[in-house]
Amino acid sequence: MSGSELYFNPDLETMSQDEIVALQNERLKEKVRYVMANNAYLRDLYTKAGVVAEDFRGIEDIEKLPILAKANFRETYPLGMCCVPKNLIREMHMSSGSTGTPVVMPYTIADLEQWAECMARCYRMAGAMEGDPIQIMPTFGLFNGGFGMYHGARAAGLFVIPTGSGNTERQIRMARDFNTRIFGAVISYTGRLIEVMEKMNIELPSLKIGIFGAETVTKAMTEKISARLGMDVFNIYGMTETGGVGTLGMDCKDHSGIHVWEDHYYLEVVDPVTKKVLPDGQEGELVVTSLTREALPVIRFKTGDLTKIISREKCACGRTHVKIDQIAGRTDDMLIVKGVNFFPSQVEQALFEIPGVGSEYQIIMEEKDGVNDVHILVEAEEGVTGYTVEKHLKERLGFSPKGDVMPIGSLPRVDGKAVRLIRKKLD
Ligand code: ADP
Ligand code: ZN
Repeated sequence: MSGSELYFNPDLETMSQDEIVALQNERLKEKVRYVMANNAYLRDLYTKAGVVAEDFRGIEDIEKLPILAKANFRETYPLGMCCVPKNLIREMHMSSGSTGTPVVMPYTIADLEQWAECMARCYRMAGAMEGDPIQIMPTFGLFNGGFGMYHGARAAGLFVIPTGSGNTERQIRMARDFNTRIFGAVISYTGRLIEVMEKMNIELPSLKIGIFGAETVTKAMTEKISARLGMDVFNIYGMTETGGVGTLGMDCKDHSGIHVWEDHYYLEVVDPVTKKVLPDGQEGELVVTSLTREALPVIRFKTGDLTKIISREKCACGRTHVKIDQIAGRTDDMLIVKGVNFFPSQVEQALFEIPGVGSEYQIIMEEKDGVNDVHILVEAEEGVTGYTVEKHLKERLGFSPKGDVMPIGSLPRVDGKAVRLIRKKLD
């Protein structure tokens, strides 16, 4: 295979770590000057922190910059952190609000090209070639998923089938009729696809690549889907604040971590409490800096996502960009029950290890007088009992949540991000 079939941008995807760091350093210096010159809110913030644009030396000075959070977006809603005049904005997206804060991301022409480039690198990394039919199943709207996959697919030369979300029977018929090779979706939607395929008695042998993101992708879920659909499953990462799906990156065919496009983003992993930068290999909260975006480049944005740096070595796929671990969860999703800390993703991993368990479940977290109790509702085939679930979760998580098993099809299905965690306060 020639390089162009393996990579979208071979020179940039395989540049040495030394070259990457030099480029990041230059870009960071330039970006700090740029935002201070073009945005009053950020200029004020940095000036108060003692930062002088001309003296800022790059990565070695990064800890002098205050960390930004969703609160800064809220404070400046709608466009108070934008660095370009409004007449240069060509598109906008807004977060789905999983955490309740509206985050608006404006894009210039250059930003749309940057998004398309990052996304196209991901497609090529998964093995998507020119002309490959892709069904884009996230919503086309304010949520960045649909349009992000679209912009990237255009750049990568794919055959776009923009089905958007929902109407599962039609999705399956179209995949059969057009020999769709790639599915782009929110991972929890695949459970629904599989159920409906079985009902319709349709198999999809042309399907080879699944590009899934927007929510935690556990190993157990990945294995389940690749075994059932015979596709290679990829975990794509991005968020509204960095410019949308795929801007950060994806895992390659080696599935040994998520490659993050370091010529576009600078990463730090920090202690969620002290905000001190942690060494590679240690899990903490991911802080991201956009090095190339124009309209609203976030600098040191605290994502709330927990992960660690896995490797900066050249990967088996030939890429040199850093690899991070799959996202373990969001800091605000961490649950503490009887002194044990855990994330919803750990519950999912444990549940899917039980034979006969389906793909839908809910974690109900009940708080009474400051004491937390967990109740798990899970769909499963006949023969799986509440006791089986409780026993397995006890072994894997170290405490015993109440387990309730219900027939497949009982829990509500959603087309967007799955709602797995429900918090209730009892009095
Ligand atoms: P919202 O914040 O409203 O959910 P976004 O689309 O901006 O809308 O969501 C971005 C967030 O979604 C990330 O910060 C992360 O928590 C989660 N996310 C996105 N992709 C993945 C992924 N591949 N694995 C785990 N979590 C992901
Ligand atoms: Zn790789």
